[in-house]
Amino acid sequence: MLPCVATTVSLRDEAAVLLQELIRLDTVNPPGNETRAAEHLRGYLEASGVDCRLYAKVPERANLVARIPGRGDGPRLLLLSHTDTVLADPNEWQLDPWSGELRDDQVWGRGALDMKGQVAASAVAIASLAREGFEPAGDLIFAACADEEVGDGFGLQWLVEAHPEAVRAEYCINEGGGDRLVLGGRAFWICATAEKMSAPFRLVVHGRSGHASRPGIADNALVKAAPFVERLGDFRDEPEVGPEVAAFLRAVTGAVPAPTEAVAAARAVHPLAGDIVEPLLGTTVSPTMITASQKRNVIPNRCELTVDCRILPGHTQDEVEATIGRLLDRADFELEWIEAHGGTRSPTETPLWDVIESFVAEVEPEAHTVPLLLSGFTDSHWVRQAFETVAYGFFPMRTMEPEVAARLIHSADERIELDDLELGVRFLRHAARGVSSLP
Ligand SMILES: [Zn+2]
Repeated sequence: MLPCVATTVSLRDEAAVLLQELIRLDTVNPPGNETRAAEHLRGYLEASGVDCRLYAKVPERANLVARIPGRGDGPRLLLLSHTDTVLADPNEWQLDPWSGELRDDQVWGRGALDMKGQVAASAVAIASLAREGFEPAGDLIFAACADEEVGDGFGLQWLVEAHPEAVRAEYCINEGGGDRLVLGGRAFWICATAEKMSAPFRLVVHGRSGHASRPGIADNALVKAAPFVERLGDFRDEPEVGPEVAAFLRAVTGAVPAPTEAVAAARAVHPLAGDIVEPLLGTTVSPTMITASQKRNVIPNRCELTVDCRILPGHTQDEVEATIGRLLDRADFELEWIEAHGGTRSPTETPLWDVIESFVAEVEPEAHTVPLLLSGFTDSHWVRQAFETVAYGFFPMRTMEPEVAARLIHSADERIELDDLELGVRFLRHAARGVSSLP
């Protein structure tokens, strides 16, 4: 009898090929068309015997949920990701953004980092575990969701409302962290445990219209808004150090400095540490859009200023509204909130934290795992709010420098190192096994 020649496709190659295939499916949102990715993932996962189901609010925007059922009632782990991407302008790129080309041990294309790489790694992790006959204590769930980048209610937000049992879990691993930073000669792996609230608002300033040739007798709403733009641009909140920033500072600087000293203390270790801490000490506001008259020769009676606003967890929109009122001398304007998302945190003393720490100890024993508050937000807040899930952003990356990755996300020439993709598969398998063996 001939010896059985095993097919030796490594998990690294398997993840690379799957990522290439996912990048070639254009899922730019809008319009999304994530069903392409969901069906492709279903084909891949079912070939390894993983149960899959598509959930779609509208046919072309499906979410895929796959699961290895738990053998008992152990904690469930959700590997969360999104399949949509932001747009890409091919003129800015060295390669076709939807080529999925493999060059110099990197997979190129829109979504390679945000976040089809983690989608592929999560799919390969659950598929490979299924092939090995892995029987977790509680369900191992993989959700590849639509509509994270825009958030029009087709993705995880809709899933937690319409099909909560599909994605309910005690623990969740999502995007948002996993960077390896070297600060002051020591290595730190970042785990995103909390997010600021994104709460943009509009300021509406009223005046009286008139002919632009006679400015003296009108009341120009655009001119009245000008000092508001300046004051909002100069605004710096009273600094405070929340629990995640305190833990980060303690690890990086060796102490928790006073809030007013926090940026300088972090910067003394490394400029990047200062840049990380700076927006996390308070609410930030950034005026970004303005509209007034639609005609050159008409003085506007109304000016609308749109302001991006990020609020610390534990603070409210009412507090911010009062602060803005004081900042602008309660002058003649209306403040209208546009929306509010996020502003949630998970505790850091959890079994999932220990699982992540044990992975870091395995790959780099002398490194530290540190929590971080994100200034942006991810889908994690939907499961934190709906199920009190302990949700962390962690997808380890050590070959590509974090500054390089930060520059490529949502930008031209986005690509991921195969070494990082492989490390991601290894981490997600480690996490699944770790959560399954929790007491
Ligand atoms: Zn993303």
